[in-house]
Amino acid sequence: MAKAVVLYSGGLDSSLALGIVKKWGIEIYALHISHKFISSQQLPTIDGLKTVDVTDEFAKIVQEPEYGYGKNLNPCIDCRILMLNKAKDYMKKIEADFVVTGEVLEQRPMSQRLDTLLLIEKRAGLEGLVVRPLSGALLPPTIPETKGLIDRKNMLKIKGKSRRLSLEIAKTMNVVDFFSPSGGCLLTDPGFCRRLADMLRSQEEISVRDIELLKIGRHFRIASDAKLIVGRNEGENTVIEEIVDESHFLLCVPDTGSPSALLHGDKKYMKVAAAITARYSDRKKEPKVEVHCKQKGKTTTIVVEPVDDEDLNKWRI
Ligand code: SF4
Repeated sequence: MAKAVVLYSGGLDSSLALGIVKKWGIEIYALHISHKFISSQQLPTIDGLKTVDVTDEFAKIVQEPEYGYGKNLNPCIDCRILMLNKAKDYMKKIEADFVVTGEVLEQRPMSQRLDTLLLIEKRAGLEGLVVRPLSGALLPPTIPETKGLIDRKNMLKIKGKSRRLSLEIAKTMNVVDFFSPSGGCLLTDPGFCRRLADMLRSQEEISVRDIELLKIGRHFRIASDAKLIVGRNEGENTVIEEIVDESHFLLCVPDTGSPSALLHGDKKYMKVAAAITARYSDRKKEPKVEVHCKQKGKTTTIVVEPVDDEDLNKWRI
């Protein structure tokens, strides 16, 4: 029996591709590539699913993608090359015959054009070894087809952005457990990308902690070397309090409803940071507000006037 690694995201297309190839009688090894730029969702249960986290490698790609960005800061071509590279490693390890993806020809303008699909598999060292069952009948024959491991007649001809046909086929095959297309990659979210672009301008490396902080709070660029993140709710306040380390200041207004705020920058910015924190506390209408700024276990108290909205918008990212 032929063996295949199926790149599985949990979405409609890869779920359908997996279901189709399974129906062909191929032995399936599902592989999920995860990174912190994808909003976390509970993956459907798949037998033997293997997950590989590529956050560190991917963060470097996001900073300087060889093939550039899509509409936002999504480096889809470089990302797909990385994913196929991981699939190739797994394929070699388990001595599988080919890799399967749920890619649909021309579904995305940058990474799913015919020339790009072929470029991506070539750059990943998988030329002719990537089977795309949803669009396979519209693509050049692959090595598994010419070897007779799979039958080209079984390939589908899905093309373009509409998911209607994929959804119909999924229904007939009883493939029902998949994510909605609205979830997914934060690098296609304009708000997240605005904050990320600011980070890329101001620091050379991005850590996992930086990515987690980009996902939460209101962000303010106080100076080229100072940034403030203000929690929007209890959950975000807790994340900020957990993430804060000795290089940060943790600010809050005591004895009232207050956000937790994290200042990344020198103490000379503490007053501005405190004025912004006060603006989001329940004392925002008071002329003078006491704010606690904590670093390395030591708390300093400063009294500030809450910042007005005009000033606030100058710093907002
Ligand atoms: S949308 Fe995000 S996860 Fe998907 S290929 Fe593009 S960069 Fe990668």
